[in-house]
Amino acid sequence: MKKKIVFATHNANKVKEVAAQLAEFYEVLSLTDINCHEDIPETEKTLQGNALLKARHVRDNYEMDCFADDTGLEIEALNGEPGVYSARYAGENCTSEDNIDLVLTKLKNESNRSARFRTVIALLQGEDEILLEGCANGLIISTKTGDEGFGYDPIFQPEGYTSTFAQMTIAEKNEISHRGKAVRKLISALQKK
Ligand code: IMP
Repeated sequence: MKKKIVFATHNANKVKEVAAQLAEFYEVLSLTDINCHEDIPETEKTLQGNALLKARHVRDNYEMDCFADDTGLEIEALNGEPGVYSARYAGENCTSEDNIDLVLTKLKNESNRSARFRTVIALLQGEDEILLEGCANGLIISTKTGDEGFGYDPIFQPEGYTSTFAQMTIAEKNEISHRGKAVRKLISALQKK
């Protein structure tokens, strides 16, 4: 039987992406799968801080090995914004569409379109805490393109590609994405145990 590990998220899209990479080694359980229905507040000011906060919540309340990720879109011309505030850039109850529209408005007359996604994963096994990171560099394009993925995917064109993350399959995105890279480091860390 495969070992179980909790991915401390309610985001079904993220679980799908990560489970696709980990399936060979682990059964990935989401917060919903372990009956954790509360929203763990992301109150820290860094991706590392929020990833640790979410993973510690699961370890301390459910006593299971777990990992949590926090991801930010860092846009050069906006001094790294939205960064750690990527989920609620356009306001507390905003949608991904609202966030994308705000980014495109802010970049309207901007020629520097460089950006990167950065993911930090906190892996907690017993008392051990490990942080892992993955980045994907790219450009913010001015027209939403593609229907796959989630969040800012329709406006992010990874370096060396002419399509956005939202035009890629999960497997294609995992190959080059911030989370895909961080998860490959996670797999190595899990295999060392
Ligand atoms: P989270 O805090 O890790 O859930 O990520 C914060 C926000 O960043 C999410 O609400 C999404 O809008 C965005 N985001 C995270 N990962 C991705 C991704 O892989 N593609 C596009 N947007 C993402």
